[in-house]
Amino acid sequence: MTITTPVVANDRTYPAPKTCAIAICLDGCEPEYLTKAIADGLMPTLKRMRETGTDRLAHSVIPSFTNPNNLSIATGRPPSVHGICGNFLYEPETGEEVMMNDVRFLRAPTVFSKFYEAGARVAVVTAKDKLRALLGAGLKFDEDRAKCFSAERSDTSTTEEHGQAEASKWLGMAQPEVYSAELSEFVFAAGVKLLKEWSPDVMYLTTTDYVQHKYSPDQPEAKAFYEMFDKYLTELDAMGAAIVVTADHGMKPKHDASGDPQVIYVQDLLDEWLGEAAARVILPITDPYVVHHGALGGFGTAYLPDGANRADIIARLASREEILEVLTKEEAVERFELPADRIGDIVMISTENLTIGTSEHLHDLAALNEPLRSHGGLTEQEVPFIVNRIIDLPSKPVLRNFDAFFYAAAAAAL
Ligand SMILES: [Zn+2]
Repeated sequence: MTITTPVVANDRTYPAPKTCAIAICLDGCEPEYLTKAIADGLMPTLKRMRETGTDRLAHSVIPSFTNPNNLSIATGRPPSVHGICGNFLYEPETGEEVMMNDVRFLRAPTVFSKFYEAGARVAVVTAKDKLRALLGAGLKFDEDRAKCFSAERSDTSTTEEHGQAEASKWLGMAQPEVYSAELSEFVFAAGVKLLKEWSPDVMYLTTTDYVQHKYSPDQPEAKAFYEMFDKYLTELDAMGAAIVVTADHGMKPKHDASGDPQVIYVQDLLDEWLGEAAARVILPITDPYVVHHGALGGFGTAYLPDGANRADIIARLASREEILEVLTKEEAVERFELPADRIGDIVMISTENLTIGTSEHLHDLAALNEPLRSHGGLTEQEVPFIVNRIIDLPSKPVLRNFDAFFYAAAAAAL
């Protein structure tokens, strides 16, 4: 290994790894997916890791969305520190919604960049390209010590920008469709090849939840996905790496018995109570890739007009059976460790099988091909946290998914 002294990132000290420290973020991996696949005998390596390593459940950050959790894992800290609390933010001054994919929104250095600065070799592979710039912030590619590329744009990656030219050709795997299980398989395959041929000190592999949005843990397509993952996990484990397997969030069915999506349209309610478009509901799950979840998740925030009676609005929303909790901005910032300047006046979380929508006419539910499954709230906060070595670990709620690199490095330093 190329470094011998501990690395400090965002006030946490990471031991120098003696072998590669790997964190794998299985996007949308509700713990039941693993339980079911293991029960069918499809994940022998993960089963063994749970039995002979360390097996826990951890809590994700809220909102239980992809970007806030990936950046928490990448920085080792909650959104109050790194600033990324959704896929986009709303600027009340301009009335504009701004995507938060850009590095300028990131308020803390990543663990990867700190390891890189300390002289380590760092590899990051993401399924979707939307995360690449944020995860790669602070990395430099001129010394062949960093790689950060996506499966989605693997045909066009370059040495200068990603540390790997034409990643698809290098891997010998065609650039996958963005909506596919192969997009995640590419990430695992790249991780195996990097560990074998490039010897990173630290590696992060993060997938996409396309399969999990579509299929429940009982369905063969979901089981096949985890069976595929276990084959790559076997190879990573056999090479002696210290591995933490966790997730950005869980995934719950959000439909009724007939398969129709279950939604509370909060913008419609606020329009009725406060006047048309007086309040503004923001669903930070929204992004350019909405086809598989219709922009519906378990978390929403709303900006209220001046003079609105916030306590009354909260009481009215909280009385709805679709809603699990309504918090003031101040309560949400404190409890979920969120950046106050990027959150609305109230925060809403729906119940396990419900989602929060804006206005009914704004959601294209016809684009949903399967009964809706989604995430974002407290009912998708529980995620697996499995280490292939025995280490001293707390469990949820103390253990967080963003402790992944802290414990991967600890396991790698044994
Ligand atoms: Zn996700």
